[in-house]
Amino acid sequence: MNDLITLTAAELAAKISSGEVSSVEATRAHLDRIAEVDGAVHAFLATNEEASLAAARDIDARRAAGEALGELAGVPLAVKDVLVTTDMPSTSGSKILEGYRSPFDATTVAKARAAGLVSIGKTNMDEFAMGSATENSAYGPTHNPWSLDRVPGGSGGGSAAAVAAFEAPLALGSDTGGSIRQPAALTGTVGAKPTYGGVSRYGAIALASSLDQVGPCARTVLDTALLHDVIAGHDRHDSTSLDFAWPSMAAAARGGVDPSSLKGLRVGVVKQLMIDGVQPGVKASFEQALALLTAQGAEIVEIDAPHFEYAVAAYYLILPSEASSNLAKYDSVRFGLRVAPEGGGTVESVMSATREAGLGAEVKRRIILGTYALSAGYYDAYYGSAQKVRTLIQRDFANAFAQVDVIASPTAPTTAWKLGEHGGDPMQDYLNDATTIPANLAGIPGLSLPIGTASEDGLPVGLQLMAPAFEDARLYRAGAAIERLIAERDGAPFWAQAPALTGKAGA
Ligand code: GLN
Repeated sequence: MNDLITLTAAELAAKISSGEVSSVEATRAHLDRIAEVDGAVHAFLATNEEASLAAARDIDARRAAGEALGELAGVPLAVKDVLVTTDMPSTSGSKILEGYRSPFDATTVAKARAAGLVSIGKTNMDEFAMGSATENSAYGPTHNPWSLDRVPGGSGGGSAAAVAAFEAPLALGSDTGGSIRQPAALTGTVGAKPTYGGVSRYGAIALASSLDQVGPCARTVLDTALLHDVIAGHDRHDSTSLDFAWPSMAAAARGGVDPSSLKGLRVGVVKQLMIDGVQPGVKASFEQALALLTAQGAEIVEIDAPHFEYAVAAYYLILPSEASSNLAKYDSVRFGLRVAPEGGGTVESVMSATREAGLGAEVKRRIILGTYALSAGYYDAYYGSAQKVRTLIQRDFANAFAQVDVIASPTAPTTAWKLGEHGGDPMQDYLNDATTIPANLAGIPGLSLPIGTASEDGLPVGLQLMAPAFEDARLYRAGAAIERLIAERDGAPFWAQAPALTGKAGA
C-alpha cells in the first residue's frame, strides 16, 4: 500500500505544501488505490483520471510559480453523486439521470476546486439520497470496508466507504436525515452535518429542501473541519444560505486537541435517544465514552425531550412531501431518461413510462406517500401536523441547550448490518435514523466520530454530538478532544485500526 493514502488530509497537505510530494503523486496514489480495491468496495460511480490528473498538474504548476494556495491545495477529494459537477456524470444514484452531465459545478465543488482540492470521483449513494444502507442505489450497493458483507450506511455510503478504505482522504456528502453522520458511524469515519444554511445547497440535487445540508467527511475531526472551512459561507445562489461570519472550524479542532478543554463542558444525554433498539455493544461504547468525558471534568446531564419520539414519524411525512415536489422535474422532458411507449403515446404516457422505468421502489414509495400527504383534505392532517411536531422538537432542543453546551448520543442505534439483512423492509432502515433525524428537523449542526467497536461484532460505533445552530465550532472542539482520548485509550488513532490497514478483514 502506498504510504500517501494513509496520511491524514492535514499531513498530506503539509507534504504537498513543502514540496516533498506533488499533487500529481498524491492523486495518482489514490486513483491506484481505487483501481485496486473499488471492485470489492464499490464506493465510486465515476472517476475521470485525465481530468483529475490535469487538475493536480495545474496545482503543482501554480505552486511552482510561487502562487499562494489554500491549506488543502493538491489534496484529493471524493464527491457524493448528489452534487452536480462538470467533470463527470451526476446521477444522484438514479437510472433516471444515468449519464447526466451538468453544465455547472455545485457551489461546494466550485469552492473546493478554488481551494485547490482535486476531485477524484463521484461516490455511490441511495437513489436521490433515500436510504440508510446505500442498498437503494440504482447502480448496486457499496460494501463496508470493515466487513465487505456489511452495508456502509446511507445514503452517503459511497463517500464514507471511500474514506474508510483509503481511496480518498476527504469526501463531500449530504445529510437530510443522517446521510453523512450515520455512514460515518457505520464505517468508523468522521462526518459533519453543518447548521442548516451554513453550507450552500446550490447544485445539490434536492431531496427535501428544508432538511438537506451538504457537509464534509474524513477520517479525523481536524480533516473534517478543514474541509468544512473550505465549503462554508454565503452563496447568493441559495436563498436559504446564511450570511454569517463563521469562525474557523479547523482552529476549533486544533484548540480541542488538548482534552483539558473538556473541563466544565456540560454534555446532555437525551433519554428519548437511548431507545430500546440500541444494540448492547453500541450502548456500552457510548457509556465508556461518557466515562472518558467525566474523567476530564465534563458534566453529564440527563435531558428530557418528550417530542423526539415523534421525530421519525414527522420526518417521514415532511421528507416525502418535499421530495414528491422536488422530483416532479424528472418528467422525461427536462432531464435524463425518456422512455416512449410503443407507437409513440401521449405526453402523460411517456412521462409515466419514463418514471416507471427510471425510478426505484423506495423513490416511488416516497413520491406516492408525499403526494398523498400534500393532497387537498389531507394536507392539514399529515403535512400540517408533522410541521407542528417539528416546532415542538425545536423547542425541546431549545430547552436542552438552556441546560447543556452539547448533546451526545450514539450516532446510530446499531452497527453495520449485513447486506440484504433488512430484506427490503423500509421500516427497519427508517428506524436506524431515529438518532440523527432530530438535528435535521431543528436545523442544528451534528458531528459523528468513532469511539470504538461493539463487543458483539467488532464493528465501529459512532458518537454523535449536537450543538445549537451556528455553534458548529463547539462540535469540532469537543470532537477533537474526544478523538484524542479514544486514541490514547487504544494506543492508536481509530482509523489506524481499520481492517483495510491491519488486514484483519474487508478490503
Ligand atoms: N436515511 C434517511 C432517509 O432515508 C437519510 C436520508 C439523507 O440524509 N439523505 O431519508
